[in-house]
Amino acid sequence: MFLNDSINLEPNIFTLELVEYEYDKTMFKRYDSQHKQLPSKQARLTKKRLNHETGFSRRRFLRESLLSSVFVPLFGCGGGSSDNTLPPITVRSTPGELSQAQTTQSILIIGAGLSGLVAAYELSRAGHQVTLLEARERSGGRVHTINLPFSNGQFAEAGASRIPSNHNLTHGYCDHFSLARDPFYPNTERYFEIAAAQASFIDANSYINQPPWQGSVNRSAYSKIRGGMSLLPTSFADQLSNSIIYSQAVESVTQSNSEVSVTTQDGSRFQAERLLCTVPLPVLANIEFTPSLSVDKISAANGGYNYTDSSRLYSQFDSRFWLEQNLNGWGNSDHPEEIWQPTWDNDQESGILQSYLRGSVARDFDQLMLDQQVAQIHQRIATAIPAISDFTSSNFVFSWANESWSGSAYASPTSSQASQLSAAIAESEGRIHFCGEHASNFHGWIQEALESGIRAEQEIHNSV
Ligand SMILES: Cc1cc2nc3c(=O)[nH]c(=O)nc-3n(C[C@H](O)[C@H](O)[C@H](O)COP(=O)(O)OP(=O)(O)OC[C@H]3O[C@@H](n4cnc5c(N)ncnc54)[C@H](O)[C@@H]3O)c2cc1C
Repeated sequence: MFLNDSINLEPNIFTLELVEYEYDKTMFKRYDSQHKQLPSKQARLTKKRLNHETGFSRRRFLRESLLSSVFVPLFGCGGGSSDNTLPPITVRSTPGELSQAQTTQSILIIGAGLSGLVAAYELSRAGHQVTLLEARERSGGRVHTINLPFSNGQFAEAGASRIPSNHNLTHGYCDHFSLARDPFYPNTERYFEIAAAQASFIDANSYINQPPWQGSVNRSAYSKIRGGMSLLPTSFADQLSNSIIYSQAVESVTQSNSEVSVTTQDGSRFQAERLLCTVPLPVLANIEFTPSLSVDKISAANGGYNYTDSSRLYSQFDSRFWLEQNLNGWGNSDHPEEIWQPTWDNDQESGILQSYLRGSVARDFDQLMLDQQVAQIHQRIATAIPAISDFTSSNFVFSWANESWSGSAYASPTSSQASQLSAAIAESEGRIHFCGEHASNFHGWIQEALESGIRAEQEIHNSV
């Protein structure tokens, strides 16, 4: 059976299907066999006609509008004015697209995860001056495709990995950036299940036509981004490259009646009319707010809103010995854990087996040394694939609890925490707005990060 923690994710999938966005739904009507959504004929014709009439391609429009709103460090420069030369937005081409701003604002965003990126992207396109401050040297936050230390160009995901077919915002932005998707679960060979130290095997066709947990779509309706999930955040970041400053960990935020100012770890200071904070709750308390945040936000940031930890072990082998048993390298155990072979759909000799642990088993796992972690997981997999003990592997562990700018994997509040605190977590305080998967009604998906980013961007856009 699947993990208790994944049951926390279950309501997201169905409830979000019902959420209505101001997005041209014709764009979502058609799917090809790999769940890639195709714009309707009408939408394609409208876009073509506009491009023809203006002689201005959408890609060129985006590039030029972003270049024209080049970031200006706000300390000492004041904020708020914009040259306002951007052409009006005429086609609703993304789920979160805003109308052109009548009055533009300067906006600081803390965090270049997907919630911050989508807000930065849409606010910039609407004409606002946006500056994104990111503590890490990369964008994406909890969407992180790992290339090193793997050889042969193989890669695996540290965080977000699969997209259910009904996550309209995630697919909508993948379409917008022309990111191809492939099936997430293999449709060949056999899967294994390990329970009470016994292995059983299931034909791929039966396995993928069942949901991974109750209430979810079937496994066959999950996809991944071809080339790695990080292509989604980097697609946003490429368009925002003039507005993102990396290695800028925010340490303090002060707001007055007219502006918000921010100081980062290296002493840099920035000012703007509005601030959007996307920092996950386990690391929010690292930032000092003046005046202080509401009692409810402080309580949530100090452990009052539960999170699920998660760790993954990756073992890259020179050969895919599991194929000898007609296995695809995928299964699950009652430890509990999911075991994936993220390399199942490339045709190289080598392959990666990955164990995905959540909750208390991930926390216990984090206490072990690497050789103990490898021994423990390989021993369990050997119940289904005995040959694993005959092969050596290069091994790598990723723990979200050990990540300084995340602190854990995703919010999973109890129902009483959710009813007491979730509204307060998302609520703006003066000129400071909040978003992120934790500031949504459901948790643990890119869809929620995007949904909350779109909600916050609308709040800011309408706040003049
Ligand atoms: C193990 C795991 C598995 C997942 N699986 C899936 C999946 O299969 N499918 C799916 O759709 N979703 C999945 N998710 C969820 C998805 O990855 C998240 O919901 C989403 O990426 C969160 O985006 P965010 O913008 O809210 O937060 P984040 O991505 O965490 O972004 C916050 C950003 O703020 C930055 N930051 C933090 N503190 C500071 C500071 N002081 N100063 C400046 N910057 C700061 C961080 O570096 C980070 O970049 C998974 C997540 C995890 C961890």
